[in-house]
Amino acid sequence: MPKPQRGAIDPSPVQCQPRSTVQREYNMTWGKLLQPDLILGETVIGITPDLIQQQGLRGIVLDVDETLVPLRLAETTPEVCAWLEQLKLSADIWLVSNNLNEPRIQRIAAFLSVPYISGAGKPSRRKLRQAIAAMNLPVNQIAMVGDRLFTDVLVGNRLGMFTILVEPMLIPGESVKDHPIRTLEVWLTQLLGITLQTRP
Ligand SMILES: [Mg+2]
Repeated sequence: MPKPQRGAIDPSPVQCQPRSTVQREYNMTWGKLLQPDLILGETVIGITPDLIQQQGLRGIVLDVDETLVPLRLAETTPEVCAWLEQLKLSADIWLVSNNLNEPRIQRIAAFLSVPYISGAGKPSRRKLRQAIAAMNLPVNQIAMVGDRLFTDVLVGNRLGMFTILVEPMLIPGESVKDHPIRTLEVWLTQLLGITLQTRP
């Protein structure tokens, strides 16, 4: 086929969508999967029985590291423990962690008296499905709560759960900036057109 001259309109039929449309659809797919249903804007402690009731939730799956317990600490604080006891009155609770250190997750779960799964491999859905099956609740009435977009939010959305992004639980003196992977995830997610602002 002869090459169109400079400035002339190429008469050949357009076989594929314009690049901008393809890009937008790609972003929308990832956007949907990475968009939390709720951006809490504070640590997990901000999840109240009122909020659970408002959203019609009956079950909560909690990530562990940096959602409930700072990675460098072995145990939950008394504040987290008291908060969870209150939450248990409103919802079934499971801990689902990617941490391969089962003794750590087992110890935290035992201290809080809740069932757990470690080495979950989020965003893989396989092990999280076990917790959902054990809860025996409709999946849209279960929240997936975590501090990470590409593991916790992604797996929750893939399963049709209600996803809640929380601020990481840090040790005093530590800053979110000390967590480059989370910062990168937030940056990438915003690049995909998702606004990670807390809703009023
Ligand atoms: Mg985490």
